[in-house]
Amino acid sequence: MKAIRIHEFGGTDVLRLEEVDDPTPGAGEIVVAVRAAGVNPVDTYIRAGVYGDRPKPFTPGMDAAGVIEAVGANCLDFEPGDRVYVGSPITGAYAEKLLAKVENVYRLPGDVSFEQGAGIPVPYATAYRALFGKAMVKTGETVLVHGASGGVGIAAVQLALGTFSDAKNLTVIGTAGTDEGMKLVREQGVEHVLNHRSPDYLDRIGEITGGRGVDVILEMLANVNLDKDLDLLANFGRVVVIGSRGPVEINPRKMMSKDSTVTGMTLFNVPPSEIGSIHAQLYTGLMNEVLRPVVGKSFPLADAAKAHEAVLESGAYGKIVLIP
Ligand code: NAP
Repeated sequence: MKAIRIHEFGGTDVLRLEEVDDPTPGAGEIVVAVRAAGVNPVDTYIRAGVYGDRPKPFTPGMDAAGVIEAVGANCLDFEPGDRVYVGSPITGAYAEKLLAKVENVYRLPGDVSFEQGAGIPVPYATAYRALFGKAMVKTGETVLVHGASGGVGIAAVQLALGTFSDAKNLTVIGTAGTDEGMKLVREQGVEHVLNHRSPDYLDRIGEITGGRGVDVILEMLANVNLDKDLDLLANFGRVVVIGSRGPVEINPRKMMSKDSTVTGMTLFNVPPSEIGSIHAQLYTGLMNEVLRPVVGKSFPLADAAKAHEAVLESGAYGKIVLIP
């Protein structure tokens, strides 16, 4: 089969399309014929080596959707032919086939495309954990999704506007950096959509909340926004740092006066049992059509380098996927 492999960390030119052996499943493992692989910003950090060393060569990619080709022993709930999506496969998602542990394989409802399925694992589990596990959003609160037009942001607004916890009637404010991105966020049902490249967009948040501020901020670019976020919070507000690409200076006094909290998260720290229950909730949302990943761009597997460039460019529009 064909797979993208990385022999040394570096720029996009280290993503090589190669011929490798097909995987075979051991006990508790499943082989999936990949129909689409999700491209996440973290894939580019891993490729560049900033997430630490790992045995090489390796195939990148944490998210995929496809059809089960073979199941090992003790995989009683699945059989060849099943439509599934997969998070954190053993062998990497940028390939024609992947090997995954059975606990990381999830059913894909029939009316959710493989491209959409590839946009579920990292973005939706991250957004779920941030909103309900870390911010612990409550009924009637106002949530600012600071960077709502990308993979995690779209997931976050769909989850916030759905009924996935006891928190009802949330007011959602979403930001994007382009007109197309703003339109996409609005199409998800978000009433208040702002452009984070417009010089006075933060003033609008004061107007929307009647000067009270927001209760929760899901932050996609903390190195740019964190100090400003502290100004935007209501008393007892919480910022969840989901993404950051560098250091930032903040004034901690702003936190004292509002009793506010800044917390970080990474999906890698979420215990497996919690990941399982998050995906059970996501399945319900997919079945109810409340959750629908948006795929903005797709590239052939051979163009993984172009996909890695695209995922770091501004002007996000949902997910980017690779098609083997
Ligand atoms: P993505 O699809 O590339 O989306 C990036 C988002 O950030 C877009 O909405 C983009 O909007 C927005 N953005 C750009 N400049 C911004 C600014 N100045 N202020 C606010 N938002 C801004 O990426 P993603 O998959 O959604 O991931 C978002 C971030 O979270 C990335 O840094 C990623 O590495 C990180 N992440 C972390 C975890 C974790 O476990 N902690 C998991 C997944 C992702 P425009 O392009 O329209 O400007």
